[in-house]
Formats: sequence, structure tokens, C-alpha cells
Amino acid sequence: MAATHGSGGDYLVRATAAEGQLRAFACRTTQLVEEARLRHVTYPTATAALGRVLTGAVMLGSLLKREETVVLQVAGDGPLGTIVAEGDAHGRVRGYVGNPQVHLPSTPAGKLDVAGAVGRTGTFYVLRDLGLKEPYRGSVPLISGEIAEDLTYYFARSEQTPSAVALGVLVETDNSVRAAGGYLVQLMPGADPRLGGEVERAVAASLPISTLIDAGRTPEGILSELLGTLDPVIQGRIPLSYACRCNRDRLTRALIALGPEELRDLAGQPEGAELICRFCGERHVFPPAELEELAEAARCPGRSPEVH
Ligand code: ZN
Repeated sequence: MAATHGSGGDYLVRATAAEGQLRAFACRTTQLVEEARLRHVTYPTATAALGRVLTGAVMLGSLLKREETVVLQVAGDGPLGTIVAEGDAHGRVRGYVGNPQVHLPSTPAGKLDVAGAVGRTGTFYVLRDLGLKEPYRGSVPLISGEIAEDLTYYFARSEQTPSAVALGVLVETDNSVRAAGGYLVQLMPGADPRLGGEVERAVAASLPISTLIDAGRTPEGILSELLGTLDPVIQGRIPLSYACRCNRDRLTRALIALGPEELRDLAGQPEGAELICRFCGERHVFPPAELEELAEAARCPGRSPEVH
């Protein structure tokens, strides 16, 4: 693992401020974005874009309860293709980008050209699986392709929640992730609308989030600097990790769903079937003998296959 700045692992803190009129989240995601880079072999602009979407999904996940999950999907018209990240209430996140080997020349300001790689037109989707029959699905048009602005716009348009969002990834000259993180500040229903202006001024006066993380600021420190005049109170802290939910049982069920004919065809291949998870790159190999068993199970749905 490349050297990452700031001590300790990735985590997120939750806080309230202005006597509960605001809620705020800040996180350091350096290690999990680096893990995504290594798993998907992303080039710097793709690393920054995927890292921002992963960091956004981490914070959306922290708004959930128990077993709920949220998927952020950024479908822009740029060379990266679609970016997907899924977060849960336990600080676990995973994601992928359509074309990981994309790198564009830096912007005139010397920044990674994330908007150029994502595209400036397209759709920004949020899917929440709350364990109900139908997942909740909201979407807004992309307004900048920089991700944080798009997420802010999503909250305002789709959820009527005034929010300030920062997402940042700093990529080292050796292409590793040097620092990554984000924050989210939201006005609660019934909050004094003047607080919105106060938050906006604080955000405008603060340094870029990746600079703060790189300088070793903790998520707690970032929130207290940002909301210092608004009496922030830390409510909780959760560790964050890159974690995939793919496993053999799930894939076995997906294979059985293909039906007996398809499975018998696959079993006829000398090497069997190899499934590669889009989220984590893990390879799962099913040899012909096992595919025969699954074909049998698909033929007689009552009998469960013996899974090895
Ligand atoms: Zn996986």
C-alpha cells in the first residue's frame, strides 16, 4: 500500500450543529479510494472521479438505517462511462467505473479534469433500497460533472434539502491516492434559513477538502473548523472500508437463474465458467462438474444444489 497521509484508517463522523438545526458528516476515505484504484487499475482522472463518487456514497450510506443500501450512479457523456458506487449504513462501500483507464490533461488551474472525464451532461441517479418492494429512485440532470455540485443539486431538487457538499481526491505523482475525503452539511426541516448563508460562507472560506485531509486534519477537526461558530457536537463515528458483497452463494443463485439449458452449455466448456465481479474484480470459477449439478438443480427447483 502506498503511503497515505493522516494517521489511522478511514472513518466518518456524524455531528449536529446550531442546536440541531444542522446535521453534518465528514470523512476520510484515502485508503478505500486507494483500494478501489488498485482493484480497478484506474488512471488518475478516473481515480479522482470514482473516489469522489465512492466518498459521496459513504455519506449517503451514513444517512441510512440497518440493512439499507444506497447506490449512486453517475451517467455522463464523457470518456469514463458510467460510475457506480454503493454504500450502506455500516460504512461499507464498493464501486466501479465503466472505463477505468482514462486520464485527461489537467485543467488550466492544475487540477484533475474530473468534469471533462465524467461529461457535463447526463444523469445523476440515487437508488435507495430500503427493504421495501420497490427501491426508491431519484434522479437529476448532471449540472457540472464535478460530482459534489451534482450531489448538492440532487439534494436540493430531489429531496428539497439545502446542502453543502465537498468531495476531493488528491492523486500522487506515482498515481497512488495521497488523500481523499468529503463533508456534507444539511439544513434540517424548520431550520432558520439564514443558517444556509452562514454555511455557504464557511464552505467558501475553507480550503479544498483534499488539501485539509492531506494536511492531516481529522474529520472531527474539519467539522469543527467549518462549523466552529455554530457549536458542532459530534454524535458518532464509524470506520469505513471498501467491501464487496459478492460471494459464491449469490453467484450460484444467479447461475441457477440462467436455467438448465444455458448451464449445460456452460458445463460443456472444458474450463467451465468464470465470473468476475464488477465491483471488486474477484474471480469466481465454476468447473464443469459443478455446473452440471447446478443444471440439475435448475431443472428440479425443489432440490438445492450442494455448493462447494
Ligand atoms: Zn465483488
